[in-house]
Amino acid sequence: RDVAERVEQEERIARLTRIYRILSGINSAIVRIHDRDALFEEVCRIAVEDGGFGIVWIGLYNHETRELVPVACGGVDAESIVAKRRGVPLRFELPLGMVARTIQNKQVTYSNDLPAEPAVGDGARPEALRRGYHSGIVLPLIIEDQLAGTMTLYTKESGFFNDEEIKLLDELASDVAFALDHIAKEEKLNYLAYYDQLTGIANRTLFGLQLEQRLTASRREKKRPFFVAIFNLERFRNVNETLGRQASDKLLQQVAQRLKDAAGETGLLARVGGDHFAVSFLRNEDAGRVVHFVEGMMAAVFDPPFEAGATQLRLSARAGVAVYPADGEDADSLYRNVEAALRSAKSSGYRLHFYAPQMNATLKRTLLLENKLRAALEKQQFVMHYQPKVDLATGALCGLEGLIRWNDPDGGLISPQEFIPLLEETGMIVEAGRWAFHQALGDLQEWFRLGLQPPRVSVNVSAVQFRREDFVRSVREAIAASGSEKLGLDLEITESIIMEDIEDNIAKLRAFKDMGIGIHVDDFGTGYSSLSYLAKLPVSTLKIDQSFVRNMVTASESMTIISIIISLAHSLDLVVVAEGVETEDQAKYLRLLKCNAAQGDLYGKPLPADEVARMLRAPRRALSA
Ligand code: C2E
Ligand code: MG
Ligand code: MG
Repeated sequence: RDVAERVEQEERIARLTRIYRILSGINSAIVRIHDRDALFEEVCRIAVEDGGFGIVWIGLYNHETRELVPVACGGVDAESIVAKRRGVPLRFELPLGMVARTIQNKQVTYSNDLPAEPAVGDGARPEALRRGYHSGIVLPLIIEDQLAGTMTLYTKESGFFNDEEIKLLDELASDVAFALDHIAKEEKLNYLAYYDQLTGIANRTLFGLQLEQRLTASRREKKRPFFVAIFNLERFRNVNETLGRQASDKLLQQVAQRLKDAAGETGLLARVGGDHFAVSFLRNEDAGRVVHFVEGMMAAVFDPPFEAGATQLRLSARAGVAVYPADGEDADSLYRNVEAALRSAKSSGYRLHFYAPQMNATLKRTLLLENKLRAALEKQQFVMHYQPKVDLATGALCGLEGLIRWNDPDGGLISPQEFIPLLEETGMIVEAGRWAFHQALGDLQEWFRLGLQPPRVSVNVSAVQFRREDFVRSVREAIAASGSEKLGLDLEITESIIMEDIEDNIAKLRAFKDMGIGIHVDDFGTGYSSLSYLAKLPVSTLKIDQSFVRNMVTASESMTIISIIISLAHSLDLVVVAEGVETEDQAKYLRLLKCNAAQGDLYGKPLPADEVARMLRAPRRALSA
């Protein structure tokens, strides 16, 4: 009996030594490792290697769903039994197995004779039994009296767990739980350091770091421009005082959410102060674009009313904007200058203020012009003028180009070059374009009604119009509204727009061709001209850009380019029109190069519709120069 007792004693000491070794290994891992997953993996590895357990796994418990999710495992047999269950939530049914019992009473559950335990569910135990495991223990991981998870250990020996081992293992479990708690608190601390708790978006510290990153990236890309804006909610202190803290917090959360939606994935967004939000976007430095972008964002965020309890409330904001690299080459000065811009927005009463004075000057002009243009659209202050196109061989009138003008009561006739870009940026071009079609078709109809024989009339189309899905339909509707199908309408579209999205565009162009509408490629030679594409496109006419015509007599390259364009176009059966022909010399060379038609001051400046009517009545020779 002595011998038997000695052997048992030695075995006990060996078991305890194994568990002591795990305990110290795991405790040193806890000190080293600050990542939850890495810690779990290491705990499992130590239990297997130092403790000789064949199956070890850890699960995290979700109190809401009452599910246990296996997150880590170790041991030869764990690989085949538990690994496939990793991340798959386990639910528990009656009768409760060991793991379920531990979850229920938050206490250690163990068995020194696994085969004798009642079979339950589809747990891992049947498979473990088949592989010869005899003892098992489930340890609760408890944080602040709550069950955070379980750690399960299986060994092949039977009768493995005695009071002493269980006590040590329980201690081990509480060390792991402590580490988990510590990691969670550390994460929270990090979160607090970088995120705004109320809204969940970045805080000023993180925004500063992100700005640094963006600067580094931009510097590498030849100082690629971006801007930083800070929005300040107006009278938010009043709101706070009237509505109370809770309701104001809710408002701030709504603002943050809308800003988040507006910022999308490309923008940086942070709450940098109580009622201050900052954004940053990679954008063209051009003031007009930045203005429209920021204004669009402000409109999206602040135009719709906010929910404040049972009532709705409107909030407004001011913004300061600074642009990299013009307004600062490092994060600090950039940020300081945005703040300065915001201060001057407040003191000057502007909704939007840039740091750089010239940007503000542009902004002022832009805003003024924009308002005036909106009024111009409403009051129908636009007029259509028509410039003749002349057949170079016969001198006969062969076309008219409709060119929009703005009859500004304060400034007279204003050229489209000054307002078309703004119409495009604000989207007003769609309405203006619709007007242009109606006007041109109306004038054409009137000339027919007067018994004149007007040539085909072309209308210019801008990128914003052309890209719209409903563009073909809108032209068709304009034609239907004019009541005549045979008016002779063509479209002028710049080369770069056509080449932009070829496949999509071909379909649109073909639709126009089917409607009997010719497509003139405007400003040809200024964009990227892919000749192979040009052959595929259903276009009828190329218009050689003014810049070549202007220099053709003095610069031989221009002459060469023009002659190449003409022969290329003819080989594709396209008609060629030269734009901006001002001199007899130019006309002469163009005639020699077999250019089909010309348009320019030499043949006549753009004229209002009634003068076109007079011209159409007059003998043809009036046009041939
Ligand atoms: P564009 O289509 O290339 O029009 C030709 C421009 O050259 C016109 O300027 C015309 O007045 C000008 N021009 C014609 N002959 C001569 C000449 O001999 N010498 C010089 N220096 N210039 C000449 P405009 O009317 O100021 O129009 C500028 C641009 O605005 C047009 O270029 C066109 O792209 C756009 N545009 C005009 N009307 C419309 C419109 O209704 N809708 C759209 N989307 N764009 C329009
Ligand atoms: Mg044109
Ligand atoms: Mg042109």
